[in-house]
Amino acid sequence: MDALSWWHAARDSLQRFVLPYHCLLCGGVGDAGIDLCADCAAELPRNRRCCARCALPLAESAALCGQCQRRPPPWDAAWVPFRYAWPLDRLETRFKFGADLAAGRVLSTLWLREMPWAVPPELIVPVPLHRQRLRARGHNQALELARPLARAMQVPVQATWLLRERGTAAQTELGALARRRNVRRAFAAKAGVVWPEHVVLLDDVMTTGATLAECCRVLRRAGAKRIDVWALARAPVGQR
Ligand SMILES: [Zn+2]
Ligand SMILES: [Zn+2]
Repeated sequence: MDALSWWHAARDSLQRFVLPYHCLLCGGVGDAGIDLCADCAAELPRNRRCCARCALPLAESAALCGQCQRRPPPWDAAWVPFRYAWPLDRLETRFKFGADLAAGRVLSTLWLREMPWAVPPELIVPVPLHRQRLRARGHNQALELARPLARAMQVPVQATWLLRERGTAAQTELGALARRRNVRRAFAAKAGVVWPEHVVLLDDVMTTGATLAECCRVLRRAGAKRIDVWALARAPVGQR
């Protein structure tokens, strides 16, 4: 254990001595190492039956969804361990819009526990927010979720190489086509950067994948060879 990890562990155990884990959803006693009880954790919607390429939840087992069979997305693989549904959506809303960092810690701990420990990428790039939205919200939820994963995998996070140059309308109310138009040419890669071959693009919630696809195109043009997308939860269009 390096000095920093030791310090994190020591600080966490000190905190827990004063403040035991408690469930953020029901207020009950938290499970070991997380502010969530075992019952609420068991209710979280896992995304086990999904498209291998875009992680869309599927009613029946199939390697690829219809959309990916017709027109595969520009990334190589997707990893999205949860579906965006109750009660995970409650934690995500508290974290994203209520700046509830305890909820964010629960989400990143859950994500970390689902980690398949495949070959780690060389770099993790969170989907950036436009500076105005960042100022209004106070944090980029994708970056906050990326940090604990990156620390555990010992992979660097790079939050300044991909920039959101154009402010865009919130995707929430838009359909699939409008989402694609909304994010077109919204992103740019920082000039003069040599990108490693294997990059992960990370976001909190993936809906149509329009934002991730647009970021992916920018990274490809900038020189990334293999691009995987990771998101905490997958939502079908119209659900958010
Ligand atoms: Zn609970
Ligand atoms: Zn698919």
